[in-house]
Amino acid sequence: MLKLIVCLKQVPIVTELPWDEQAGTLRRDLASGMMNLACLHALEAALQIKEQYSADILAITMGPPAAEEVLREAIALGADRGIHLCDRIFAGSDTYATSWMLARTIKQECPDYDLILCGSYTSDSETAQVGPQLAEELDLPAAAYIEKLEIHGRTLRVRRLVDNFRETLEMEFPALVTVSLENYKPRYAGLSGLEAAFDTGNIDRLNAADVGINKSAIETDGSRTKVRKVFLRKANKENILLTGTAANVVGDFLSKYESKISWAIGKDIEEDRNDE
Ligand SMILES: Cc1cc2nc3c(=O)[nH]c(=O)nc-3n(C[C@H](O)[C@H](O)[C@H](O)COP(=O)(O)OP(=O)(O)OC[C@H]3O[C@@H](n4cnc5c(N)ncnc54)[C@H](O)[C@@H]3O)c2cc1C
Repeated sequence: MLKLIVCLKQVPIVTELPWDEQAGTLRRDLASGMMNLACLHALEAALQIKEQYSADILAITMGPPAAEEVLREAIALGADRGIHLCDRIFAGSDTYATSWMLARTIKQECPDYDLILCGSYTSDSETAQVGPQLAEELDLPAAAYIEKLEIHGRTLRVRRLVDNFRETLEMEFPALVTVSLENYKPRYAGLSGLEAAFDTGNIDRLNAADVGINKSAIETDGSRTKVRKVFLRKANKENILLTGTAANVVGDFLSKYESKISWAIGKDIEEDRNDE
C-alpha cells in the first residue's frame, strides 16, 4: 500500500483579512479560515491515487488551534488521519521555518512515506516556496505545479505546464510534488466521510516539544526573514473625458498616455507606428 502525505494549510478568507500595519503581520485571528484552494487540489490528487492504487493518506497541517478544521475536512473527503502541528512558538514562522518544522515532523512521525503532495501556492502568502523547501529538507526529487500524475511501479510520471508547453518528468519514490489548480477538481464530502471527520481518534496534535523543537532551536534554525514593512498600496485614480471624432480621441489619448501604455505592454508604440 502506498503511503501518501498531504500538506494542508488553513488560510484566512481573503475578504475578511486585515493587516496589522504596525507589526507587519496578517491579523489571522480576526478572519475565519478555509482550506487553501491549491491544497484541496493536492488532496484530490492523493484521493484519486488512493482509489486507483490503494493508499494511506496522512494529512499534516501546521497552524493555530482552528487549523484542525482543515484536517477534519480532509478526513471527511477521504484522508485516513491527520497530524496537527500546533504551538505558540511556531507563530510568525516564515517559509523556511514552516518547511523545516514540517520536515522534522515527517521524519519523526512517518519516515516511510512514498509521496508528499503540497498545493502549488497559498492564497494568503503565495510564495510557492514551502513545497520545494520541504523537498530540499528531506532531500527528495520534486516537481512543482504538476497538473497530472501517474504511477508505474516505484516511478512517478508527472506532467506540468511550463509557459506555453507541457513537460513530462519522471522520478523515483520517495518524491514530492506541488499540485496546480489545472486539474484534480476538488470533490464534495459524502455522508460517511462526515462521520469519520467527527471521530476524535484520528487526529494527533503535536506541540514543539513532541517533535524535538525548543525555543533555542527556533531561534537558530527558525525564521531567517523578517517583514520590515507592510503597507496598503494606494492607487491614484483620475477620470478623464475625451471628446471629438474617434480619430481625434485616439490621437489625444496616445499623445497623453503613450509612454505609460508602452511601459505597461513592454512595447514601443512609436516604433510600431513607424513600421506601418
Ligand atoms: C519573509 C516572510 C515573513 C513572514 N512572516 C510572517 C509572520 O511574521 N507571521 C505570519 O503569520 N506569517 C508570516 N509569513 C507567512 C508564512 O511564512 C507563511 O504563511 C508560511 O510560511 C507558508 O508560506 P506560504 O503561505 O507562502 O506557502 P506556499 O509555499 O505558497 O504554500 C505551498 C504549499 O505548502 C504547504 N504549506 C504551506 N504552509 C503550510 C502549513 N502551515 N502547514 C502545512 N502545509 C503548508 C501547502 O501544501 C501549500 O499549498 C511570512 C512569510 C514570508 C515570506
